[in-house]
Amino acid sequence: MDERHFVVIGNGPGGSQAALTLRRESPESRITVISKERGGFYPPHRIPELISGVISEEDLFVFSPGSFKERNIKLRSGQEVVDLDLRNQQVILEHKEKIPFDGLIIAVGGKPRIPEYLAVFSDLLMTLKTLQNAKDWVAKLSSAQKVLIVGGDLTSLAFSKILLSMQKQVYFLLSEEAFWPIRCTPALFEEVSLALSRKGILVLTPSQIRSLSVLPDKSIELRTDHDTVCADIIGAFFGLVPDIRFTARSGLKIDRGILVDEYLFTGFQGVYAAGDCAQIYHPQIQDYWVSIGHDNAVALGRIAAMNLLGSRVMANVSKESIFEVQDIKVNTSWWTEF
Ligand SMILES: Cc1cc2nc3c(=O)[nH]c(=O)nc-3n(C[C@H](O)[C@H](O)[C@H](O)COP(=O)(O)OP(=O)(O)OC[C@H]3O[C@@H](n4cnc5c(N)ncnc54)[C@H](O)[C@@H]3O)c2cc1C
Repeated sequence: MDERHFVVIGNGPGGSQAALTLRRESPESRITVISKERGGFYPPHRIPELISGVISEEDLFVFSPGSFKERNIKLRSGQEVVDLDLRNQQVILEHKEKIPFDGLIIAVGGKPRIPEYLAVFSDLLMTLKTLQNAKDWVAKLSSAQKVLIVGGDLTSLAFSKILLSMQKQVYFLLSEEAFWPIRCTPALFEEVSLALSRKGILVLTPSQIRSLSVLPDKSIELRTDHDTVCADIIGAFFGLVPDIRFTARSGLKIDRGILVDEYLFTGFQGVYAAGDCAQIYHPQIQDYWVSIGHDNAVALGRIAAMNLLGSRVMANVSKESIFEVQDIKVNTSWWTEF
């Protein structure tokens, strides 16, 4: 009988898949999933549909807390991991509780990236990553007419389509960092600008943001070198970065994400990382790549669980499918259309 205690940090596509795989392959083990967000598992790529009203909050959840219970997986939602004591095999929660583990999978995903030059304005910018963010958008959009999107990652392209369907007036300030996780070329930049304009979006001349200020009517004025625009909401869409600050004192090797070998092993006994937070060694290119996207996260969650249980499954993507974006080697399973 396997009485080991496996802990999974994160309840996104990677973490939930890891937990389900552990349960399937190791029916007797204890499994705990810890997530700082409340509730069951939902795939983040569907939250724009929630904002537009196409799906309800109930439809969004793939697994309710009850579904975890049915599978004998303990879900500790609404609890944040703030530190790791890997030598003593313990996970430390915000309220100081220490949870011992025999095996650990870290699948904490990403958080919205705000470029340095905009950090000072971050209180004025809305982002879109979590269900709570989606609820904030719904509340704001109920009284907003003009929405300005800055950045231009793949999420924002799909999201602006939704804003148009809600009869909002959409402005777009595309930046050179646009299209993350896809490489921005001048031709693509031009093509997307044109496509946005054709759909009725006002595309501003690309240039540096000089200031953001709140006007007496609570709208926000944005000034660039070329334009001045007033909007009710400004959304910042510059892609996601691994949400791994809590690992800083753990001894894990960190670059952009948590560095793991091709088996998703961190180098600490029984500790693996998967999904958007991992940076994975590729023996052929002899370098690390980051994974972006739902399907990749699911596949990596499964592989981490199998390897934690003793398999030797490689996180295998062809070297041809790895490309360099903003100096980072990336493989994405993202699907998109605009
Ligand atoms: C709006 C939006 C649209 C998207 N559209 C697409 C798309 O069309 N196609 C596509 O392929 N991908 C899309 N993505 C990206 C895709 O959702 C991610 O690649 C995928 O969710 C990554 O899964 P993950 O499990 O690695 O991490 P996440 O889904 O980010 O899950 C991370 C989990 O970790 C938890 N967590 C984080 N830190 C802690 C902590 N310290 N303690 C406890 N818990 C913690 C979080 O609460 C969460 O449960 C989209 C993402 C967003 C936000």
